[in-house]
Formats: sequence, C-alpha cells, structure tokens
Amino acid sequence: MENKSIPYGRQNITPEDIQAVIETLQSDYLTQGPKILEFEQKFAEYLGCSYAVAVANGTAALHLCALALDVKEGDKVITTPITFAASANCIRYCGGEVVFSDIDPETYLLDVNKVRALLESSPIGTYKGIIPVDFAGNAVDFEAYRALADEFGLWLIEDACHAPGGYFIDKSNQQQNCGNGQFADLAIFSFHPVKHIACGEGGMITTNDEQLYRKLLQLRTHGIVKSEDSYLNSVDFANGTDVATGYPGWYMEMQTLGFNYRITDFQAALGISQLERANQGIIRRREIAEKYAAAFVDKPFVIGQSGAVEGHAYHLYVLEVEDRLGLYNYLKSKKIFAQIHYIPCHLMPYYRQFGWKEGDMPHSEMYYKGCISLPMYPTLTDEELQFVISTIIEYYG
Ligand SMILES: *Cc1c(COP(=O)(O)O)cnc(C)c1O
Repeated sequence: MENKSIPYGRQNITPEDIQAVIETLQSDYLTQGPKILEFEQKFAEYLGCSYAVAVANGTAALHLCALALDVKEGDKVITTPITFAASANCIRYCGGEVVFSDIDPETYLLDVNKVRALLESSPIGTYKGIIPVDFAGNAVDFEAYRALADEFGLWLIEDACHAPGGYFIDKSNQQQNCGNGQFADLAIFSFHPVKHIACGEGGMITTNDEQLYRKLLQLRTHGIVKSEDSYLNSVDFANGTDVATGYPGWYMEMQTLGFNYRITDFQAALGISQLERANQGIIRRREIAEKYAAAFVDKPFVIGQSGAVEGHAYHLYVLEVEDRLGLYNYLKSKKIFAQIHYIPCHLMPYYRQFGWKEGDMPHSEMYYKGCISLPMYPTLTDEELQFVISTIIEYYG
C-alpha cells in the first residue's frame, strides 16, 4: 500500500479505448474525419445542447469563444481568480481587460452578488461579458447569471472544464446540465488527461446559438468557408473565366482570420469511447466525495470542504485546512500527491503587472491559504480512499 503512489487525478484508459484509437488510425482519416462529428453529436446529446464544436484543447475553446463574441482591445470581462489561468487569458489574447471579482467562500464560485455590485458601480456598457467557472465541478447557477447579464447587456461564457455531468436545479425545479446552453451563450470543456474525459489534448465548445456555432466552425479552420451560398467572390473569378455558371469543386474562401484549432480523428475516437463511461465515472466521483465529506465533517483542522453537493461533478475534492503546507508534505511523504487549485490568478506575476495585488480578493486569497485537492478519480479504490483519509487524520492526530 505505502509504495503505490496516489495522484490527485488520473485518466483511465481501457482496452476498448485503445481499440477505438487503433481502428481510427487504420481508417482513411487521421484528422477532419467522421469521428469528430460523431464526438460532437454524442457530446451535445450527453449535455442536452444543440451544437458542439470539438477543438484542439480547452484553451483553444476559450480563445475561439472570445473571438466569436467579438472581444476587442480594451473590452472589460469579469472572471474569478480561483481558476486555471486560461479562463482569463482568452480575453488577453484578444486585447481585452480581465477584471477579477471575488469568490463566495462557501461554494468557491464567482460570487454573483459581488459581480452585481461591480456592474452597478460602473456606467452601463463598461463590461462586455462574464466568464463564471464551474470550479471543482460545482455547477454555477447560470439562471441567476443570465438574469444579471441580460440586465446589463453582457454575454456569458461558461468555463465548464471541471463539470461535464454536473448540473444545478433551476427556479422551476428543472435540472440544468453544465454547458447545456440554456443560459450561457457558450460553454467550454477540456479533455486533458486530468479532466473527466481524456483525449490526450482536446476541447469542446457547446451552444444553442446557431450563428455562434457557424462562426466557431469557421474560426476553428483558418476562417475558411466552403459553402456556395456564403461566397463573397464572384463565380467568374472563382472559375477563372467569364462563362462559368457555378463555383468549381475546388473553391473555398478564407473570409475571416481564424486558426488551426482542430482536434484529430483518433483523439475524437478516444473521446467517444471515454464518453460512454462518463456517467459511471460521475457516480464513482460522487461516492468518493460522500466518503470524504463524512470523514471530515466535524474535524477541528477542517476550515471548509467541497462537501456532498447535489449536481457536483467532482473534478476536484477540495479541503480547506489548518497547516496546509504541513499536510501537503506529509501526504507527499506517503506518496499521496495532493495538489493546490488554484494560486489566485490575479496574483500571478503576469496579472500583477496590471495592478492586481494582495488584498484585492480577500475570499480567494483566504481560500488559497488553506486549500488542498485530495485524490479524486473513478479508479481510486476504497482501500486507497481509506488510506488517504486515515493519513490525513493521522497527520493532525
Ligand atoms: C483545464 C482547464 C482549462 C484549459 O484546458 P486545456 O485543455 O488544458 O487547454 C481551462 N479552464 C479550466 C477551469 C481548466 O481546468
């Protein structure tokens, strides 16, 4: 037991996954083949949204969202400091300004009341959009954010990288899956190996907005259009003669400045195979969370924890503890590799240069002092789970 290392998260690759990749490698397409569309359709079905666009990674997904929503130089966008830097960076890629707003210390999510206060304290039109993050897998109440966004004329990007399979219950008692496009304009996911569904690298954008969907497809492939009814150049030009009646077979147009943010077909095949086990994975993650929640509920060294929350997808299980450094090192000495999520983004040296400093986000900074992410992945065994729990209790014992 003591010799096997336990990470905070890990992928699970089955023989079926391997077979799916091999079959794609032996097919006619390595990229831009049928597996991408199949993955998109199955993922959209899984969430209950209209459209999905598979891309190279979650960061590319965020960048394309910012481009599709037309983020420009100087545009102000609000997000949480307790997230992976990419949630904020996508705005910087477009020259926009990132405005951090603090978390709710109970849920660790961007505090909607704080965002409201921020919006109310500035002239209307100051901000363009909000990027709430379903941090750790805890679903943001996007119904509340939609109401706020509509009031102030903002768009919403849901960073749902932690939350495929997560949901919240809306005011009419309906289950709203993370990324289902009911409230946010766009949502994004990552298929990095530590996330729920592993493709090696990979990402997905989901939406119910057909116009944004078309735009994203174009931006993913260099801004190229291949469709007769959208061409801007004339038929004569396209054919190289003035006697032509239709566009020739080879014709295409680059109409906007896009990127190559495509995923490969064999990664999509892996994604499809992984998606088939997504529900099982969530069930196991919730089981693990319940055990952690029960084990730490009234321990004096615990300041806070993720807890047993309905609809939580548990990408992470967070404990806020006294003497976090000591616990981290003790766990490491027992080959339990906990991790810290996240160092507040506004205090990264890159963001400090814009004037962000200690004291700006008190709840996020307090959270960072005590947070530690415990091992959380479907293949974590009950024995390993008990070892993690007892090692933590032993440390404080
Ligand atoms: C992983 C992650 C991303 C970025 O995804 P990549 O696929 O690694 O580019 C963005 N936001 C959050 C919250 C993430 O956890």
